[in-house]
Amino acid sequence: MPEKNSFRVLRRAEDSDARPLAAYRSLGGYAALEKAIRQQTPEQIIQQVVDSRLRGLGGAGRLAGEKWRLVRKANDEQKYVICNAYDADSRSYVARTLLALNPHQVIEGIVLAAYAVGASEAYLFTRSLYTEGIAAVQTALGEALDANLVGRFPAQYGLWDKPTSINNVETLANVPLIINEGAAAFAGSGTVITGGCKILTVHDFAVDAEPTLVEVPFGTTLRDILTQAGVRRADDELRAIVVGGAEGGALPASLLDTPYDFDAIENVGAIVGPGVIEVLPVATCMVAWAMERSRYLGKESCGKCVPCRLGVKRIEGILEGIVSDLGVSGDLDVLDEFADYVPNGSLCGFGVQATNPLKTAKRYWPEHFTTHIQEQQCPTKTCLPVRAHRFVTKHVLP
Ligand code: SF4
Repeated sequence: MPEKNSFRVLRRAEDSDARPLAAYRSLGGYAALEKAIRQQTPEQIIQQVVDSRLRGLGGAGRLAGEKWRLVRKANDEQKYVICNAYDADSRSYVARTLLALNPHQVIEGIVLAAYAVGASEAYLFTRSLYTEGIAAVQTALGEALDANLVGRFPAQYGLWDKPTSINNVETLANVPLIINEGAAAFAGSGTVITGGCKILTVHDFAVDAEPTLVEVPFGTTLRDILTQAGVRRADDELRAIVVGGAEGGALPASLLDTPYDFDAIENVGAIVGPGVIEVLPVATCMVAWAMERSRYLGKESCGKCVPCRLGVKRIEGILEGIVSDLGVSGDLDVLDEFADYVPNGSLCGFGVQATNPLKTAKRYWPEHFTTHIQEQQCPTKTCLPVRAHRFVTKHVLP
C-alpha cells in the first residue's frame, strides 16, 4: 500500500497529497479492500487482525480483532460499525489530522471492518469543529460511492441493541495495512504485545509552537519520540513529560528510556490514552500542575458516580490549600486515600484514570508537596495562593 517507508497512517506535510481518490489509488489504496473481498473470508480477516496484535489505539488497548469476532458471532442480522473520530481529549490532533489528510484510508478501514463483522451500516462521529476533516471525508465518500468501492446501505433497523463494533479512527485506518502487508509484517514493527505504530501528538510547552505529530512503532522509547518530534532538551531542562493526555501521568526525565507500550507506560503510572505527550518546563510546580489537572477533570466528570463526582473535586480543593501554603501534613494521607477511593468506586475508565496526575506528581515529586506544606513556599517560586483559608479535610474512609 502506501509508499514504502514514507508513511503508514499519518500523512505529513512532505508526503504527496492522498486526498483525491486517484492519488490514493496510485499509492496502493483500496488494494486491501479488493484483496479482502475477492480472496478472503470475514473470519480470515478477523484472524489476521488478531494475529497482527492491533490494539485499540484510542487508548483502550483491547485487541481489535477479538472485539470484531464477538460482533461477528453475535446472532443478529443487523450489525453496525462505528468509527470514533472525536478526539475526546482536545490535546490530541490525531482524528482531525487523519480525516483531513487521509480520508480514504479511514473509509477503507471502516469498510474492511464492516465486511469482517458482517455490518451493513457504518457511522463516523467527530467534532463539528473539524470542518476541514468533515469536508475531506464527505468528498472522499462521494468519490468512493461513485467508484462503487462503497455501497449505499439502506437503514432497516435502529442502532439500539444491535451488535456494534466501535473502533477508534486510527485503529480502523491501520486495517488496510494489515491486509496488504500480512499480519506478521504488521506485528513486526511493534512489540510482543502490541503490533504496529501509534500516532502521537507532542506538545512542548517550553516553546510557543503548534504540536507536532509523529507516528512511531510501539516500543519506541519516550526519549526517541521526543527526538523525532523535534524536542531537543537536556534532561535537566524539563520538569516532566506527561504521557496520556488529560488523565495521563507525569514522568521525570529519568524515565525517558521507558518504551512506549501499554503495559510499560502503565507500570510507571501513565497511560497510552489519546496518544498525547506534553513536555513541561522546568519551572513547573507539580502540586500546581496536579491541581489544575484535577480541576479540569472535576469539570469533565459526568457525575454519575459519587467517588468520581465528589472525589476529584475534593482532591482539587486539598491541592488548592497546599498551593496556597495552607496545607498540613495530614493532607498527604487524605490525598492517598482519595487516590485509591476514586478509581475503586468509579464505573467507567474516566474515574479509574482520574487520579493519575495526582498519583504521579506525589510519586515522583514528593519534595514539591513537602516544601509547600513544611516551608510554606513553592519549590519553583511560581505558585500564587488561590485560597485565603483552608477547608477542614477529613479522612475518606472510616
Ligand atoms: S466514573 Fe465515569 S460514569 Fe462515573 S461519574 Fe466519572 S465519568 Fe461518570
